[in-house]
Amino acid sequence: MSDTAHDTAPRGDLFDKFQPIIDLRAGLLASGVEDPFSLVMEKVLSPTTAICNGRETILLGTYNYMGMTFDPDVIAAGKQALDDFGAGTTGSRVLNGTYAGHKAVEQALCDFYAMDHAMVFSTGYQANLGVISTIAGKGDYIVLDIDSHASIWDGCKMGDAEVVPFKHNDIEAMEKRLKRIPEGAGKLVILEGVYSMMGDIAPLKEMIAVAKANGAMVLVDEAHSMGFIGPNGRGVAEDQGVLDQVDFVIGTFSKSVGTVGGFCVSNHPKFEILRLVCRPYVFTASLPPSVVATAATSIRKLMHAGDKRAHLWENSRTLHKGLKDRGFQLGTDNPQSAIISVIMPDLERGAGMWEALLKEGLYVNLARPPATPANMTLLRCSLCSEHSAEQVQTIIGMFERAGRTVGII
Ligand code: PMP
Repeated sequence: MSDTAHDTAPRGDLFDKFQPIIDLRAGLLASGVEDPFSLVMEKVLSPTTAICNGRETILLGTYNYMGMTFDPDVIAAGKQALDDFGAGTTGSRVLNGTYAGHKAVEQALCDFYAMDHAMVFSTGYQANLGVISTIAGKGDYIVLDIDSHASIWDGCKMGDAEVVPFKHNDIEAMEKRLKRIPEGAGKLVILEGVYSMMGDIAPLKEMIAVAKANGAMVLVDEAHSMGFIGPNGRGVAEDQGVLDQVDFVIGTFSKSVGTVGGFCVSNHPKFEILRLVCRPYVFTASLPPSVVATAATSIRKLMHAGDKRAHLWENSRTLHKGLKDRGFQLGTDNPQSAIISVIMPDLERGAGMWEALLKEGLYVNLARPPATPANMTLLRCSLCSEHSAEQVQTIIGMFERAGRTVGII
């Protein structure tokens, strides 16, 4: 190395590829706006309120749809498991990491979905990564909605199957792709119940009929519908009467269940073999005992949460109408889930509106590409069954004031 080597930037700096996003972020912060991606929850008071920047803030950007994070039975179960089983398993599910609690939460999932098999992963991300990359292999085809979650795309990338995307929720486009697949190849169709950016649902009944008519197996990610949508909270497939046609349901504990973890449930008779061949299940530590205990308790309570589901629907309808009536452009014409997306004209005004809402005492998600479709900037509102009717009215008022200040409405 020459004496002057340290004066020059290293050639081939692997971080050069991040320069566009570094510049974008710097430009945004230079406009004086608070960094929307580094907010700290200083104290969490309830499923719907926290202290942010020293002030009490209404939470409208969590996935805590059913408000289970502070359920007293859930918390008690977690504390008991900490006392009885310790802080962590320090091992894989296939070695020393399967405790009674892991079996109990898998049984709770089988009961919740009325299915034969359940496999729990450390996150929902890993559930998609593991199941998709393992079941669709060389010579197989995956046909998936283009707006699929990053964990689904990453599962496709990790496996060896051919990946064929189709236009969002477009039944004909999906059918066309399926018909082009060579005779005899294995086919997996991947759909989501609720698409989390716009809050819209999939026409699963029609899509699954087409998938089955073309000999495909079907995997549905119900991350954002579990606990809330469907008569028993099993998701959009249950609501549309086609859950028995779904081969694999993927879900997470990080939303309605109120903790962390992921899962796959299935009636496939050979399902259990996945425990030996699915690398994101085998080569990672299992969830801590306190987490599986809270999850099992929460899942069993969600089986009897009809009143909470009804109230959450009420909240979703009220917020959707309130924002629409005040002139905001929303992701869906009518409320389809607990997510109401407000479309912003651009990132700058989206960040401005996000900050104005925070100053009002309201937290929502600012979502931008690559998470969002069509390069959109969104203010994503996700409701909780524990938001009171009064809080929802307060939220609408906050949106109206902030929207006028920033010039969105
Ligand atoms: N699937 C979908 C559709 C999601 O939105 C998410 C997370 N937002 C996941 C899977 C991953 O869930 P987890 O947070 O448990 O990793």
